Amino acid sequence: MTDKALKNRRLRLLIKLVAALVILVTAVSFTRYVYKSLRPKNRTTMFSSLSFPTLVIDAGHGGSDGGAVSPNGVIEAGINLSISRRLQLIAQFYGFETVMTRAGDDIAYPADAKTLRARKQYDQKTRLKLINSTPNAVFISIHQNIYPKPAPFGAQVLYSPTDGSRELGVTIQELLKSTLNTDTRTNRRGAVKVQKSIYLMNNLECKAILVECGFLSNPQDESVLQEADYQTKLAAIVFSGFCRNLSGKYPVAPAEKPAETQENNPGTEAYHLIGDVW
Ligand SMILES: [Zn+2]
Repeated sequence: MTDKALKNRRLRLLIKLVAALVILVTAVSFTRYVYKSLRPKNRTTMFSSLSFPTLVIDAGHGGSDGGAVSPNGVIEAGINLSISRRLQLIAQFYGFETVMTRAGDDIAYPADAKTLRARKQYDQKTRLKLINSTPNAVFISIHQNIYPKPAPFGAQVLYSPTDGSRELGVTIQELLKSTLNTDTRTNRRGAVKVQKSIYLMNNLECKAILVECGFLSNPQDESVLQEADYQTKLAAIVFSGFCRNLSGKYPVAPAEKPAETQENNPGTEAYHLIGDVW
């Protein structure tokens, strides 16, 4: 083959390559244009058109604030996160949009937040901003309780003053009692309105509840709350109550008693939260 023939062959090959590239770029651009034109703007829009809320899941405490600590040194914050992650996975499995107020053990504080109080204030205000800026949100916070005596056990739901929170709280409380803490002779607690001192729960704009999953001060609760199966069961029951509430079904709520009159666990609900203003 002469030099000229070789050059012509290379030129033809180059022209073919350029042509193929142009066709490829055009095809990709066209496909992207069609995809963008046809798909919903985002999933939130798609779900909100069906009135499906976004489930905002709050693993209580975290970072410098471990929350309650059991007599054996079991820290609340880690259990909260573990149950919250399970709740998120179950909700996502059923197609719900979810938001976590914290995804890990650590929290990034600003440099000037040096004391525990300053860090908690920063953290709670950051969470509040996130929750109140989430459209169509339903808020579920996960915590563990503690009491100076070992006897009190079982879960208790607290609800915020916002519309619909009591119905959601009662629904989940009654499910927890009928499926998890089934000994009604000793666990008669009902869902209660959250104390005014709890900053986050009293400043939310959406439907909001806080689940105290059990007592770290009770040896049986302390043990099962660390078990993966029990944590999954708790998450599944909370999610089930959330779905039941969406359907509009509302259980007949037992008469709400002030905690002091409940023979079994006097004054126990959210004991660790009492001094937990931030
Ligand atoms: Zn807590």
